[in-house]
Amino acid sequence: MSRPIQSRSLHSQLHFRNLGIVAHVDAGKTTLTERILLYAGRLRRPGEVHDGGAHMDSDVLEQRKGITISAAAIHLGWQRNEVHHGIHLIDTPGHVDFAIEVERSLRVLDGAVVVIDAVNGVEPQTQAVVRQARRHGVPLLAFVNKFDKAGADLGTAVASLQNKLGVRPVVLTLPVFDDDGALEGVLDVIGGQHLRFAGEHGAEVVASAPSDALAVALQTAQQQLLDHLADVDDDVAAAFLSDEEVSEATVRQALRLAVLRHDLLPVVVGSAYKNIGVQPLLDAVCDLLPSPEDVHVDRDDALLGFVFKVEHGDHGAIAWVRMYNGDLAAGAKVRLSSSKRDVRVGRVARLDAGKLEPQDAIVAGDIGAVVGWDVPTGATVFAAGAPAAEPLESLHVPPPVVAVAVEPSRRGEHKALAAALAKMAAADPSLQVSSADGQLVLAGQGELHLEVVLTKVQQAVGFDVVQGPPRVQYSERLTGTAEVRHRFRRQGGGPGMFAELLLRVQPIDDVEQAFGFESRIKGGAVPAEYLRGVERGCRSALAEGPKGFAVHGVQVVVLDGMTHVQDSSDLAFEKCAQEAVRLAVAKAGTALLEPMVRADVHTDVDSVGTVVSEVQRRRGQVLALDDVDHGRCVTARVPLVETFGWMTQLRSATHGQASLHMQPDGDAMVPAAVAAQVLND
Ligand code: GDP
Repeated sequence: MSRPIQSRSLHSQLHFRNLGIVAHVDAGKTTLTERILLYAGRLRRPGEVHDGGAHMDSDVLEQRKGITISAAAIHLGWQRNEVHHGIHLIDTPGHVDFAIEVERSLRVLDGAVVVIDAVNGVEPQTQAVVRQARRHGVPLLAFVNKFDKAGADLGTAVASLQNKLGVRPVVLTLPVFDDDGALEGVLDVIGGQHLRFAGEHGAEVVASAPSDALAVALQTAQQQLLDHLADVDDDVAAAFLSDEEVSEATVRQALRLAVLRHDLLPVVVGSAYKNIGVQPLLDAVCDLLPSPEDVHVDRDDALLGFVFKVEHGDHGAIAWVRMYNGDLAAGAKVRLSSSKRDVRVGRVARLDAGKLEPQDAIVAGDIGAVVGWDVPTGATVFAAGAPAAEPLESLHVPPPVVAVAVEPSRRGEHKALAAALAKMAAADPSLQVSSADGQLVLAGQGELHLEVVLTKVQQAVGFDVVQGPPRVQYSERLTGTAEVRHRFRRQGGGPGMFAELLLRVQPIDDVEQAFGFESRIKGGAVPAEYLRGVERGCRSALAEGPKGFAVHGVQVVVLDGMTHVQDSSDLAFEKCAQEAVRLAVAKAGTALLEPMVRADVHTDVDSVGTVVSEVQRRRGQVLALDDVDHGRCVTARVPLVETFGWMTQLRSATHGQASLHMQPDGDAMVPAAVAAQVLND
């Protein structure tokens, strides 16, 4: 059944882009995406965002909230310099309650466009997403949108990119305004052309020579571009020194390499809403962002893929897979890192504007869906047979920060609810479901995250779900280091159990790492096969610390141990480690931590005082006060527990003038007086 598609897939990789668009809420990502789909022939008319008809937001709930939640993927084509480019557009949510969605799309993107608002500049969520993109090594382009708005200024926007993102922006298009100050087109810095966007929805690009006045601005911008390139590229620097003319081809090549190395951030400007400047952005995507070949994972060309998302819908389960090497053919047998047997790939498809289109295979470099594949998110796909290689690094899943107790509104539906929640948790690794004393508890990344999940669950089960008040997930962190020697022994009717361990617990500096495990056992004092049991025991001990909360950021170092010829086992070592770690953590001592959020409140100038005093009343700290479009932005760090109900309070206190965006911002020590109260509850 093998098809000769290998060569085709390798050939097409060069002209393929796995692209994401990331932005702060309201920067214009949805509008931009719609224009892109329109110009690529994927849409006949734009479904304007205001009427809730946006194309990518297929979910009813998403339309109601006016935000994009799930990372849908759409395939489109773009002609650049007579070459057809395939672009796989992977939608990423702007709301950080869905950080896992951003994380899983960044995991499989090769490049991304960051959309910023020309008036507001770089906003906090953009900073957070760009940080995430860097962690994944994803090269970026910036689209500065809304240049049709009063107050839009290129210099300010560029300074904002430079200061808030710590990058070196280079401007590739300049806004052009008419005599009345209205945006009418852009100047293409490298091509030296004045571009206007004519016809229906500005689909037709009309190029002309710049006027004398524009030619001056163009020359300055070209000089700046060359200066930046000379700093990071030897060829351009050499040409510069010997006063040679730098060719357009050299400029494009040097720029492309600088983008791949993350040395420069190319900036393209326009107005998605007014249909200006979007096509040059797509050209820049084709010219500058990496192809799958540029980010090739070198694994001897063996089959290699990554399951980055699993959805449960009308078609049953659908697994989204990014292929790195080889082609995932429909009907083939493969091995997953999560299972011990080979599994069959059923139907393979590509999402084209809301419809699944059958394909022969997901070719190397591409992203596609396997229909009916109920496999775990984060699994690596290998060729059939035992995998010869390590699985790819899985997703970075943040621990949950909010939990609610839930129960069915009808009697006798407990099981149905539990099953529906378990299904959601399998598809969303940032969601946790637990059951304590017959009470179901759902924990996730924020109030909005849980609300979205519960709305979906209610639709699925057909009855209402009653929620308790939200509770934040406190955690504990070690305040010291401790060493413990512990012996575990059990004798009874059956075989005895024996294990002895000497271990140390110590805090990990890296706050993102929850747990570390290291063995310094010498001379086989504890055989290697028992170490897995030891590690399991450590993890289960840390799930609940002396104050009753999970202990984060603990490094366990196993120093020594003792076995018994007959009575030692994996289980005995697990139990021994569990008890030893509990004792060591109690000895080292822990502090109580609470999740924090970074809150951005946009408000009119008159309400700034009210907002600031409310931040203080909620134990928050004001970090910055900035001028923004039509008002001011108060940035603050506030304990999550204090933010419940803030949105409602804020709306009434400011007569609906203020808006609030929140994103997780690590955790902080709970003040003693508050801690006493938490521990009493
Ligand atoms: P998203 O939240 O980033 O997806 O942003 P949307 O695309 O939903 O846009 C947010 C708001 O900004 C909507 O009311 C859009 O109509 C508006 N908008 C988007 N692009 C532009 C633009 O270029 N100029 C202006 N003036 N408004 C825009």
